[in-house]
Amino acid sequence: MQCSRRTLLITALSLPSLACAASPLHVVAAENMYGDIATQLGGPLVCVSSILNNPNQDPHLFSATPSVARGLAVADIVIVNGADYDPWMAGLLAAQPTPNRVVITVSDLLGRKPGDNPHLWYDPAAIPALTQALTPVLTAKDPANTSLYQHNAARLLTSLAPIHARISAMRAKYIGTKVTATEPVFGLMAAALGFEMRNQNFQRAVMNGTEPAPSEVAAFESDLRRNAVKIMFYNAQVTDDLTTTMLGLAHHAGVAVVGVTETEPAGISYQNWLNNGLDAVDKALTP
Ligand SMILES: [Zn+2]
Repeated sequence: MQCSRRTLLITALSLPSLACAASPLHVVAAENMYGDIATQLGGPLVCVSSILNNPNQDPHLFSATPSVARGLAVADIVIVNGADYDPWMAGLLAAQPTPNRVVITVSDLLGRKPGDNPHLWYDPAAIPALTQALTPVLTAKDPANTSLYQHNAARLLTSLAPIHARISAMRAKYIGTKVTATEPVFGLMAAALGFEMRNQNFQRAVMNGTEPAPSEVAAFESDLRRNAVKIMFYNAQVTDDLTTTMLGLAHHAGVAVVGVTETEPAGISYQNWLNNGLDAVDKALTP
């Protein structure tokens, strides 16, 4: 199942800046939350470029530009999501063969495959797994700074601990809560929170740019009208008629809506991004 629809050109990749000249390692992340993690691990020792980095655009519309390819040509380490979320990366990497480049595929770390929910960064296991995979690659490529990478990895994992504790506490409180979504962006976190996610066929169809079956649309609308769900998650990076219709119905029925993005907003960390999402869920479920 390919997570793609329509096509649009995104010229998002920032090429390595002059400030990067002193960095021993170049990392290219296909998605910017993974680039954030590389920065948190490497600090000034790594020059990180993220290809998908604009929360105002839909990543499913992505089409690579020449600047993206040039960035990959100098990369020591590349991080891709996998699970068919960024299938364009395989072609770009093949077109820029570079000896000694290490490619880390997050879906492989989690044992996910095409057809599974590809929004892997909302799985609480994803970033710890990436940290465990990326740290030894950094130390192998830059052994002189091993202790710094290991220190940063420990700090990163420590910073995730309260978020994981919060997820457990929310799960205990909210388990079984019925929710729905226009797309499966937040699905892995919803599962971690113990939510019963409804209308999943509808979500897959929207994600893949196909029309949900009329019966699926009717079931979704019925869930909203009957107030059978406590939250409707929607993809804030997408504007389409179906999303607009469902937002209107949810508003009319008094169902809380929570907008989520699949690109990390500028100026906040992955940790803050997750906490903001959990804040929005708590707010939606607090009468
Ligand atoms: Zn998506």
